[in-house]
Amino acid sequence: MPLSFTRTFVRRSRSGSEKMLLLGSVLAVMAIMAIVAWLLFRELGSANEASVRAANNVVQLIDADVQRNAELYDTSLQGLISAWLRPDLGTISPELRQLVLFDRATAAPYKGDLVLLNETGSIIADSTSLTPRQDNFSDRSSFQHHRDNNSLALLVDGPFRTRWGFKDLCISFSRRIPSNDGRFVGVASASMRLTYFDQLFRTLDVGPGSTINLLGANGILLARQPESNGRTYVGQDFSMRQNFKRVLSEVNGSFTAVSDLDGVQRLYTFSRVGDLPLIVVVAQSRDDVYAVWQRNAMLVAGATGLLCIGILLLSWLLGRQLRLRQNAERELAGLASRDGLTGLANRRRLDQVLKQEWARSMRSGRPLALLMIDVDHFKAFNDRHGHHGGDVALRSVAQTLAASIRRPGDLAARYGGEEFMVVLPETEKAGACVIAEKLRLAIEALPPFAEDTVPITVSIGVATHLPVTHDQPELLFHAADRALYRAKKNGRNRVEVEPYVAPFAEQQA
Ligand code: GH3
Ligand code: MG
Ligand code: MG
Repeated sequence: MPLSFTRTFVRRSRSGSEKMLLLGSVLAVMAIMAIVAWLLFRELGSANEASVRAANNVVQLIDADVQRNAELYDTSLQGLISAWLRPDLGTISPELRQLVLFDRATAAPYKGDLVLLNETGSIIADSTSLTPRQDNFSDRSSFQHHRDNNSLALLVDGPFRTRWGFKDLCISFSRRIPSNDGRFVGVASASMRLTYFDQLFRTLDVGPGSTINLLGANGILLARQPESNGRTYVGQDFSMRQNFKRVLSEVNGSFTAVSDLDGVQRLYTFSRVGDLPLIVVVAQSRDDVYAVWQRNAMLVAGATGLLCIGILLLSWLLGRQLRLRQNAERELAGLASRDGLTGLANRRRLDQVLKQEWARSMRSGRPLALLMIDVDHFKAFNDRHGHHGGDVALRSVAQTLAASIRRPGDLAARYGGEEFMVVLPETEKAGACVIAEKLRLAIEALPPFAEDTVPITVSIGVATHLPVTHDQPELLFHAADRALYRAKKNGRNRVEVEPYVAPFAEQQA
């Protein structure tokens, strides 16, 4: 019996303080994770902003460089036009004329040819030779534009392949040449080799998965570095592609989208080059943008994870220790209140419970019943079966008592020797008698001990009490004792009730 009590205590579930400890540490871990997640999320935004800033710097650098070169080309074109329109140009030698027309053009890097076209598109002056090449550019869209429009603004057109010289891709800068009365008399045109942009872009490092692109305002890709897997997209029309539609429709800005060329998510930062019909687009891959953040995030998340696991583990260990300690304390408390032989409550516990129930009964006005149980002729039983046999019989009587009272508030206790007591809160006399009779019968019905012809029986004294001011619990106790005495006197193996418990005050009177 004591063993089974011990096991019950050990198996007890987590205590309130252990639950609080675990809950507290889980909440702390959740708070730490939430704070770290928030910080990492903020850092993610910063990484994005830093990339946009870096890309903007690249874009502005290119912007400035391309504009400077465009100005150089334009200066050359304007010089060419103003020299061409001089009336005295025909009076000088062809060598001198070549020098006057084309000297400033040499300043532009990666320059292609500079040519003057007449109103039919035929070359009338050529930077590459004294004698102009026999060719006609009336098929070029730039020529047609100037011929059909009065605008004197600089036109950037292309890309196209040159028919002579390097025969590589070029863009052209051109201006309309008007006569004094504004009629179209020809076009001054300069070509710029796209190799120039490749050289420029190569000097800028935007990361291994990222590209720098130059687009014409018409959506034609003019230059791109680095080339994707050896493929060149230069010359292709990107105006119908989703991302470039957006680039073309806005002057400058940045956005994140999946590239429809290679399916990689990229951060696009773009800007129009001055007033020129050119757009620079820096497309940074997600990996380039978030590489540093990802490394840091992995480190921080790993360290936080370990910290959280550590906290949870420590809390669990602490909780376990707490539980073991509380179990041990409870077990000790249990042992201190249990009877060693029978496992029932001991006398100490009985006194405590009786006092508590007495006080409760006084407060609530509900009755309280006490049964005093004594084993009949137990001395003789001991004589027949020995002291050990007597102990076994006492245990079996105790088990029968414990099994027969089922209400949570009821208590069966060993008062001492072969005497037991049962406390029945909120039980009237009639109910107490029924229970006492049930106990008596249950014990009488126990199987004979070691084929003994005399059954084990008990005598029970029942006392009930209705609370009256100034009463003492001892009154109830004495009443039960008196009832038991009567039961013994009236033949044993029977229940007797103390008919009336005199209030303390009345007894005094
Ligand atoms: P009755 O109560 O019917 O008047 O007779 P009884 O023989 O039971 O009366 P009594 O109270 O005089 O005897 C009680 C006996 O119970 C004395 C003792 O030998 C025995 N006893 C008391 N405590 C224990 C115990 O822990 N173990 C055993 N084996 N016997 C005990
Ligand atoms: Mg006795
Ligand atoms: Mg007895």
